Amino acid sequence: MNVHEYQAKEILRAHGVNVQRGEVASTPDEAEAIARKLGCPMYMVKAQIHAGGRGKGGGVKLATSPEEVRAHAEAILGMQLVTHQTGPEGKLVREVLVAEANEIEKELYLGMVIDRDSSRVVIMSSEEGGVDIEEVAANRPEKIIKETVEPAVGLPPFQARKLAYGLGLPQTLIPKATQLMMALYDAFIACDCSLAEINPLAITETDGGQDLVALDAKLNFDDNALWRHEDIEAMRDPHEEDARELEAGKSGLSYISLDGNIGCMVNGAGLAMSTMDLIKLHGGEPANFLDVGGSATTETVTHAFRLILADEKVKAVLVNIFGGIMQCDVIANGIIEAVKQMDLKVPLVVRLEGTNVELGKQILADSGLNLIAADGLSEAAQKAVEVAGNQ
Ligand code: ADP
Ligand code: MG
Repeated sequence: MNVHEYQAKEILRAHGVNVQRGEVASTPDEAEAIARKLGCPMYMVKAQIHAGGRGKGGGVKLATSPEEVRAHAEAILGMQLVTHQTGPEGKLVREVLVAEANEIEKELYLGMVIDRDSSRVVIMSSEEGGVDIEEVAANRPEKIIKETVEPAVGLPPFQARKLAYGLGLPQTLIPKATQLMMALYDAFIACDCSLAEINPLAITETDGGQDLVALDAKLNFDDNALWRHEDIEAMRDPHEEDARELEAGKSGLSYISLDGNIGCMVNGAGLAMSTMDLIKLHGGEPANFLDVGGSATTETVTHAFRLILADEKVKAVLVNIFGGIMQCDVIANGIIEAVKQMDLKVPLVVRLEGTNVELGKQILADSGLNLIAADGLSEAAQKAVEVAGNQ
């Protein structure tokens, strides 16, 4: 799950990361009032959408007065913001963050992710922040320094200092950088993050000398750990999520919508992946990933059909169920029940395998429904591609 920048900043602030002052607004009036309350020489008005590159897309504006904050908020709220991460259709801006603007001396990058190879949290930092870090990684990888954190120990000060020195920070900022990195790591672990990114982390000029401030913040959370973070779950913005994926989550189905036209209903994530692979191998495109889980009951199957068919792109449905714990005859009855309840207008290819498979196939054959039975996995995929192409 993702959250907005202002929410990520709230979380980071609570863990001791230095982020600049600011509040979120959904109307120009509110934006102006926040600016008056902040009372600083310069302000940033920042579109809150779940995508980066807002600056380049025109969603981040500098203002020098509360009136100007209002004018920017008027322009940004309601705009369809297009960035390199939103796709050409862009995203509707419903809220803006009004923040204190800082005098920036240098923009750095600081990020933490779970590295699959080492199964550990890896901290990455770079002197070349602000811009696309992907571009730095591709063209100047030596500009990114990495440290792997030993999970049993956590992030010790010496390791944070190593990163800080690697960033070429002035001596006076080393303690601040160390504290900030440790606070970010603290937040990462406490919130079960899968990614935490501060880009830019800015060296700013203040009356009291230089400071280190998080100007942007991005947090991703591990969905499987959200049950123990009610406060984070409450930050979910339904506008930013695929409506079908949201509905699927509520009923315990794992559903990811994709661009193709073959709806897939499979039990088990591995089998679902192989099914998608085979559809592609036979020249088709899956419309979704869907794992109905171990208990393919009539209820879950009906629900899954409803999700798949709500996608207008779907021209054929491929059901591929392995009856291990569930028996094929029970699954077959579930499919028949579900199909009867639904107004199924597209061809349905069914492949069953496992316990009581013969009985299951017989039940499907006797149902009088217009189903296309398939024996092997590859055959099923091939048939689905064929019938989807004929639609
Ligand atoms: P995005 O990554 O979506 O483009 P950022 O929050 O990183 O959005 O903002 C883009 C740029 O705007 C930053 O690189 C920085 O130069 C500038 N910026 C953002 N927040 C501030 C701030 N509080 N003060 C000064 N400049 C800022
Ligand atoms: Mg940024």
